[in-house]
Amino acid sequence: MLSNFPTARLRELDAAHHFHPFTDHGALKLDERRVIVRADGVWLHDSEGNRILDGMAGLWCMNVGHGRQEIVEAVRAQMSELSYYNTFFKTTNEPVIELSALLSEITPPQFNMFFYGSSGSDSNDTILRMVRTYWDLMGKPDKKTVIARKNAYHGSTIAGASLGGMGGMHAQSGLPIPGIVHIAQPYWFGEGMDMSKDEFGIHAARELEREIDRLGEGNIAAFIAEPIQGAGGVIIPPDSYWPEIRRILKERDILFVSDEVICGFGRTGNWFGCETYGTEPDLMTMAKGLSSGYLPIGAVAVSREIARVFHEKGGEFYHGYTYSGHPAACAAAIANLKIMRREKIVERVASDIGPYLQERWLRLGDHELVGEARMTGLVGALELVPDKKNLARRFENIGTVGAMARDNSFANGLVMRAVRDSLILSPPLVLSHEEADILVEKASKTLDDTWAMLKKQGLVSPE
Ligand SMILES: *Cc1c(COP(=O)(O)O)cnc(C)c1O
Repeated sequence: MLSNFPTARLRELDAAHHFHPFTDHGALKLDERRVIVRADGVWLHDSEGNRILDGMAGLWCMNVGHGRQEIVEAVRAQMSELSYYNTFFKTTNEPVIELSALLSEITPPQFNMFFYGSSGSDSNDTILRMVRTYWDLMGKPDKKTVIARKNAYHGSTIAGASLGGMGGMHAQSGLPIPGIVHIAQPYWFGEGMDMSKDEFGIHAARELEREIDRLGEGNIAAFIAEPIQGAGGVIIPPDSYWPEIRRILKERDILFVSDEVICGFGRTGNWFGCETYGTEPDLMTMAKGLSSGYLPIGAVAVSREIARVFHEKGGEFYHGYTYSGHPAACAAAIANLKIMRREKIVERVASDIGPYLQERWLRLGDHELVGEARMTGLVGALELVPDKKNLARRFENIGTVGAMARDNSFANGLVMRAVRDSLILSPPLVLSHEEADILVEKASKTLDDTWAMLKKQGLVSPE
């Protein structure tokens, strides 16, 4: 058994045979490879016996925390009854039926049909094909272009990465594919500090209006956006942003897709981020928190109106995945959602652990290294800056200080992620008050350690 291998051997085998995702292969050193062997609640355990607070909930997904035996048992029972059968040819299965009915209760009222895949990325592929097919069925075949935003993350398949607005990803694979355009993001700290937050929010939102007019409403299929951009650096839009987007969308005949892969299932203190911001999407992308990461599953929530058009106009929609409606993945999602409901996890984020952590997290904004601390629900960021008195200044070699701080955080037993020179946080929603205190203490020490290193290197002004 591999589990009997010493860490050094595991690292060698990993380096020899495992092609890691989102990794600089040349830079990843052997002894940096951390082998996670076990996890429980908000705690990870590695092969060297370290206990680490999982401040990223895996990859923004372990909403109910690690090690829930109830989900394990539901999957085991389903696997022994029916491990797999497809949902293509007039067939269905009990878990996919139950999950769909459950999602129709949980999602906003315009939704009552759900299409399944295995990830957020493939769900966005589905959406791209669905919105274009929808407009074909409506007799408006010119409506093909999708407007997305710079620095958005919508996944890593060709469609997902094209919808996303990550310059590095586009550059590596000749993306985006035709028919996808990107407008500005509502990132006040990064791009809008010459205006008030609200002025900037309106300004960024009106890019949507300008872009629709530039390309012609008759050519636009949809606008896709995350309520809060996650991987882009937890970009929490100014309060004025979503109301203005809502106004623009109301006046134009285009579909709105809310990518709820991170914001869905409680992250912002409501079941869905669109509820936090009062938008009314026609489609929602769901994954991650849908099963709390216990098994891979993604889904597209389809509005009654879109479902009606597909139903009434008829004709086959030539799209599906072998694992659409996979019974074991659906069983994991059902068990996860039952836990979330029973333990009132969404309500807890809204009125208990959310405000508790926010208050402490925002206080980290007083640290000399932090230019802005922000958090909504249980998702937040700390912008690191060299000179608190001049917030427009940035570190040279963007990303170096963020990576340094992230490594310090790991060393302090807390997983945070670095985006440019910010630290981001998205812990399991079951975080206790005591664990929140530990988290903030570790984050605070991380800031102190990083500041001390920067001072030693002469990268910040010695006060
Ligand atoms: C993670 C993510 C995706 C992609 O999901 P995968 O399951 O990794 O394919 C899509 N959209 C958003 C907002 C995400 O955070």
